[in-house]
Amino acid sequence: METKKKDIRALTKEQLREFFLKQGDKAFRGNQVYEWLWQKSAHSFEDMTNISLETRQMLQDNFVINHIKVDQMQRSADGTIKNAVRLHDDLIVESVLIPTATRTTACVSSQVGCSLDCKFCATAQLKRMRNLNPDEIYDQVVAIDNESRLYHNRPLSNIVFMGMGEPLMNYNNVLKAIDKITSPEGLGMSPKRIVVSTSGVPKMIKKMADDAVKFKLAVSLHSAIDEVRTSIMPFNATFPLSDLRDALQYWYSKTKNRITYEYVVWDGINDKRKDVDALVEFCTFAPSKVNLIEYNPIDDGEFQQADSKALDMYINILEANNITVTVRRSRGKDIDAACGQLANKGQ
Ligand code: SAH
Repeated sequence: METKKKDIRALTKEQLREFFLKQGDKAFRGNQVYEWLWQKSAHSFEDMTNISLETRQMLQDNFVINHIKVDQMQRSADGTIKNAVRLHDDLIVESVLIPTATRTTACVSSQVGCSLDCKFCATAQLKRMRNLNPDEIYDQVVAIDNESRLYHNRPLSNIVFMGMGEPLMNYNNVLKAIDKITSPEGLGMSPKRIVVSTSGVPKMIKKMADDAVKFKLAVSLHSAIDEVRTSIMPFNATFPLSDLRDALQYWYSKTKNRITYEYVVWDGINDKRKDVDALVEFCTFAPSKVNLIEYNPIDDGEFQQADSKALDMYINILEANNITVTVRRSRGKDIDAACGQLANKGQ
């Protein structure tokens, strides 16, 4: 029986160098292969044209390159592109390219499915199957960068971890992927152009602060009242708002980075004056920005976007309290590519 070959991209550069030394080759060969694997995103050992045939065969005998495969690409009328991405074990995740006049943003997944249970999110209806590896996250970004160059004549400019999964429940791999994305040996992107969006896992937010990460943080808040938040995001019972607030206060004290809150206003759920007042109160301990997201319905009709009167009330009161507020319109709704709609429907 053939033993299972190891994914070569699980090795660090140092480990690759050592591997070649052990083979009686030069450590430098490791650098060359590493460059093929990351900077040049080689899909096979055959692509590595400056490596001898013999060495390529030896690599082939020892390793696999578990590259993702874009199974299906859908293009929306507004230019948004959604990729259904097949992993080496045939599981599927989705990632999205969102073009605007000035930027191209990649929205990437961090897990297959999600272990959290937000009532308004289609991904939550898939259970969490597994975490993505760093290379599987990196590959989604490379695929979108290529599509951006091909269809929009410019490279990718921004990345948001707002696809499937909770990035802070797969923190180590997300961090490793971001290291590769920002490294000159990978894509060389600035960490300031990366946003990690979390439902709010207090312990991990503190860890991020301790790790002095350079990317930005967004928190899916949706309500600053425990009772309300728990009813729509049940895990809030385990991580109540006071813990989240503590963690965010710590984050701000360490990073001095403004915090963005993502927030949907729903009819009959969080559309009252008391809801806005609680949000204003929650935003007082650190410079904050509130991103009001349009609700993207997910079939069962339990949630309805509040009317424009409720939205105006939010905007007016937040602005009166000097809190920056933006309203984000949905993109790619016609292909189920908008926030909360990623659920592998085509599969
Ligand atoms: N787990 C992470 C990232 C994935 S969700 C998080 O919770 O932040 C990305 C964003 O989409 C979150 O702000 C989430 O609350 C929001 N979202 C989920 N379902 C949605 C829906 N149906 N309509 C609009 N936004 C939704």
